[in-house]
Amino acid sequence: MWIAIGSLTVMGIVLGGLLGVASRFLAVEENPLEEELKAMLPGSQCGQCGYVGCAQYAAALAKGEAGITLCAPGGKALIETLSKKLGVEADLSEHEEKGPEHAFIVEDLCIGCTRCIRECSTDAIMGANKLMHTIIVDACHGCSKCVKVCPTDAIIMVPIEVTLRNWHWPKPEIENTHSNPEVGHAH
Ligand code: SF4
Ligand code: SF4
Repeated sequence: MWIAIGSLTVMGIVLGGLLGVASRFLAVEENPLEEELKAMLPGSQCGQCGYVGCAQYAAALAKGEAGITLCAPGGKALIETLSKKLGVEADLSEHEEKGPEHAFIVEDLCIGCTRCIRECSTDAIMGANKLMHTIIVDACHGCSKCVKVCPTDAIIMVPIEVTLRNWHWPKPEIENTHSNPEVGHAH
């Protein structure tokens, strides 16, 4: 019995040592710029940029392989932030700022092919083969990927209705307190 315990202890020490060495030499170095860019992105993982998720888009941005206007949920504010961070000019003249949207299925056009269900990464579509499908609005993050795969154009994107549950104050403008002596003297 003592031999078995001894062997297991030695094996544990050797394997632990090997794992420690491996983690040191095989560790993947993180790119600080990539991490910073990832933190700037909305994190909705919607894939509208053409990458699998926000981390992959951030990696491509850090390598200079992706444009800075690809993130639809981030909108104009994100484009401007990325432009400053990466020192890249962005043409915003054609940029159309849209509010949040969700998918909507026009029931009469749905043939129940289930293609949209397979495309949705958030399980926001309910339905079955040859039956009408419908969108669970609360689970839809508006990536519009389902729109592209529907063979009958049954899916459209519609603005999210503003209610007391989702309304919020607009973000305040940042004022330059150094150039405006009136600011910052409230009593
Ligand atoms: S329902 Fe469509 S728009 Fe909504 S998350 Fe799923 S794939 Fe995206
Ligand atoms: S892809 Fe279009 S037709 Fe097919 S199930 Fe979805 S909504 Fe219906």
